[in-house]
Amino acid sequence: MIPASFEYARAESVDHAIDLLSGDEHAKILAGGHSLLPLMRLRLARPSMLVDIGRIGDLSYIREDGDEIAIGALTRHHDVANSAVLHGLCPIVAYTAGEIGDPQVRHVGTIGGSVSHCDPASDMPTVLLALGASMVVRGPGGASRTVGAADFFKGLFEPDLASNEVLAEIRVPKAGGRGWSYIKFHRRAQDWALVGVAALNGDRPAVALTNMGETPIRAAAVEKALAGGADPATAAQAAAEGTSPPSDAFASAEYRQELAKVLVRRALQEAMSG
Ligand SMILES: Cc1cc2nc3c(=O)[nH]c(=O)nc-3n(C[C@H](O)[C@H](O)[C@H](O)COP(=O)(O)OP(=O)(O)OC[C@H]3O[C@@H](n4cnc5c(N)ncnc54)[C@H](O)[C@@H]3O)c2cc1C
Repeated sequence: MIPASFEYARAESVDHAIDLLSGDEHAKILAGGHSLLPLMRLRLARPSMLVDIGRIGDLSYIREDGDEIAIGALTRHHDVANSAVLHGLCPIVAYTAGEIGDPQVRHVGTIGGSVSHCDPASDMPTVLLALGASMVVRGPGGASRTVGAADFFKGLFEPDLASNEVLAEIRVPKAGGRGWSYIKFHRRAQDWALVGVAALNGDRPAVALTNMGETPIRAAAVEKALAGGADPATAAQAAAEGTSPPSDAFASAEYRQELAKVLVRRALQEAMSG
């Protein structure tokens, strides 16, 4: 289908984008367009204006910053997947970016778009949740706030972003010494995840799930079992607790819940062997 008509404006800077957004509450940011444009073609989204941030060069970077790595929101999945900084200091993020879609998607889609779109089937939000990453959000008047991943993913396609705010940066803790795993179960190579699992070993092992609820979720019962001394196979039996996965043409909710138990066990075993 053809999208409904809309205005188009190219933002020259983050502040310019915020000004444009503040002038029209039905405007939306356009980054890679790989999630927004399909929705517009189906007329599930009808923004009055697209504010294109795709040419703001200083929103695309990956750099060390103290105990964290700062990733500009406009950084393409391809650049995240191939970042030497991330491969050395937070490899689960680089690996997962390489699991998103196909090369064309990875060369155009952005980490900020993936996070802001808040699709529960997306891969990167789950990994950011397991890591305890944070999002730097900029708003009118030079305002800036930092939101933890646990609070940022508020609901189905509902990030903690006002209509005139821009996600500027994603900050991930250095985790180079932690064993890790991201397992994405899909029917065909390059499909979206039926279920995905991110696991990180360490003093407090972390497990988060893709496509098992309206947002990415922590597998809290699994984490609690591990903290109590359970082995991975036993802890993984709790993977479905507190989940509410969708039923669709590809899998029922019950199938996803059984699958989650298997994938959590495998992910934990992989993370703990690394
Ligand atoms: C064929 C195909 C396969 C795919 N497969 C996968 C997959 O396997 N796994 C996966 O996780 N994803 C997949 N995706 C989605 C892909 O990762 C998208 O790139 C991503 O979801 C959105 O990024 P984008 O830059 O294209 O954002 P856009 O489509 O431009 O924007 C998405 C939403 O986020 C908002 N937004 C974007 N940037 C910002 C910002 N900086 N601040 C505030 N709001 C912002 C927009 O207004 C819009 O609402 C696939 C997409 C396609 C087309």
